[in-house]
Amino acid sequence: MSDCLFCKIARGEIPCDKVYEDNDILAFRDIHPQTACHVLIIPKDHFPGLKELESASDALLAGLLRKAAAVAKSAGIDGSGYRLVSNCGRDACQSVQHLHFHLLGGQQLSDRMS
Ligand code: AMP
Repeated sequence: MSDCLFCKIARGEIPCDKVYEDNDILAFRDIHPQTACHVLIIPKDHFPGLKELESASDALLAGLLRKAAAVAKSAGIDGSGYRLVSNCGRDACQSVQHLHFHLLGGQQLSDRMS
């Protein structure tokens, strides 16, 4: 989508602190990190969010989860643990309407998820 922030990042039109890229998936550091390690994992194709995945392939969705785990491992936080979150819609405070997973870790996280 031409005016989507994460589409522009995926196309290289806006810079990012990239940690992984392949043909379908990009992972980059969140510009406002909320934990010591805060990486966003996105599909390069545009899907607004978890509610709009009808046209997303199972392979892509599985790839996003596998890549998140691989990024956690390469960041050295797989042993201590991490959280993978995708905010969906208003109540979840989704601010960028392009599917993304937050990989959060590198420190003790709260036992509350709300
Ligand atoms: P959400 O609120 O779940 O939609 O998450 C969107 C995330 O994108 C937030 O954590 C923002 O800090 C992050 N973000 C916004 N703009 C950028 C950017 N240019 N580069 C990296 N992360 C960004």
